[in-house]
Amino acid sequence: MIPDSHIYVVGKPSSQDLSLIDAGLIGKGEYKIQSILQNGIDLEAIKRIIMTHTHFDHIGCLSEIQKQIPWAELWVHDLEAASLEEGDERTVYGMEMLQGMCQTQYGLKPGAITCKVDRKLRGGESLEMGGMVWEVIHIPGHSMGSIGLYHLPKRILIPGDVVYADYAIGRFDLHGADASELKKSLMRLAEPDVDILLPGHNRIVEKLPTGYILKTAKQWEPYLV
Ligand SMILES: [Zn+2]
Ligand SMILES: [Zn+2]
Repeated sequence: MIPDSHIYVVGKPSSQDLSLIDAGLIGKGEYKIQSILQNGIDLEAIKRIIMTHTHFDHIGCLSEIQKQIPWAELWVHDLEAASLEEGDERTVYGMEMLQGMCQTQYGLKPGAITCKVDRKLRGGESLEMGGMVWEVIHIPGHSMGSIGLYHLPKRILIPGDVVYADYAIGRFDLHGADASELKKSLMRLAEPDVDILLPGHNRIVEKLPTGYILKTAKQWEPYLV
């Protein structure tokens, strides 16, 4: 019923310094690990897991993945890190109705999605990882601590759930969401040139039309007040 999220492995394979972006839905950990192995990726090369944000569909199987790569650090934006560490799951589930539904469906106890964060991101960092540089962009609105990761040389954007293909954007009715912040974040993402869009769900786009994110932001502007 809840869709799994995409995860991405970034970094040059030869670097042995790879990063996993997001984890996925609860119960999908084994599937994700198998997919990574099938792509010829050495699990030992994965040094960290960076969360675009901490919604259940992105962080649900984190503990399953961490069991396979216990050495990997967890990096989360500052605005979602504290609640994650304290077991405040309002952001994870987004709303009480979903919390109840997920806990019933997956047999989760309150506080089940609690984890230690190794590095708190703020936005503005240039992360040198795996022979690539990724800029961290804080893009709140879908959730408080949503981040985008942008790699200038190849014009790759990983926007989490803030913007998708086909002129879709993330929902803005969950805990910590804010429509006007989302509008600002979309405008921020419209600034850099993006060729490759790797969103949290649905299809990825390898040749993004020029001005795509700006056009998407403009289409949604009347709703984002
Ligand atoms: Zn989300
Ligand atoms: Zn999602």
